[in-house]
Amino acid sequence: MKYLQDRILTDGRVEGTDILKVDSFLNHQIDVELMNEIGKEFNERFKEHNITKILTIEASGIAIATIAAQYFKVPVVFAKKTESRNLDKDTYESSVYSFTKDKTYKIRVSKKYINDKDNVLILDDFLANGKAANGLIDIVNQSKANVCGIGIVIEKGFQDGGKKLRDKGINVQSLAIIDRFEDGNVKFSAC
Ligand code: 5GP
Repeated sequence: MKYLQDRILTDGRVEGTDILKVDSFLNHQIDVELMNEIGKEFNERFKEHNITKILTIEASGIAIATIAAQYFKVPVVFAKKTESRNLDKDTYESSVYSFTKDKTYKIRVSKKYINDKDNVLILDDFLANGKAANGLIDIVNQSKANVCGIGIVIEKGFQDGGKKLRDKGINVQSLAIIDRFEDGNVKFSAC
């Protein structure tokens, strides 16, 4: 997606050897017009799959999933990272290790919102080692729903999450795939 790649080149900032900061349009301030193009593109790529629900993870996934859901015309469910008295007691749970924060956290989804009749599309902002995606897949599997695919805004191809998921036969669609960081600059793979 050229529009997204251009935006990453203009406004993304490489941190250290493996982190891309995109706070000015995706992770802190949100460019809604760009988000809308992203939502449309996910719909193009997954519209034949009879998606009934979009599943993401708080916080950054919510805006992406919500705008995409307007094209799919299905509800969004987001996995919660914090325990709260408001959350139903009856939940699916999984653990996710975050390499950006170097900690493991629990994610939870109420059993009310995904069931065995659902065709679920998982959406997230980044794909690195695949831990967040695997936690969400685990939750879908517990609910006996079907994982139809995974849509990612930015995949870092030099980390192995995407390869592992595709090797398992999962349809992973990434709108921009970063091949490497070179002298603090982003180099894309053809996608
Ligand atoms: P994974 O679980 O695939 O290892 O990492 C994906 C999750 O970590 C995403 O949900 C995202 O929030 C965060 N993440 C991983 N790499 C990056 C990165 O380079 N930049 C930002 N902003 N977030 C990242």
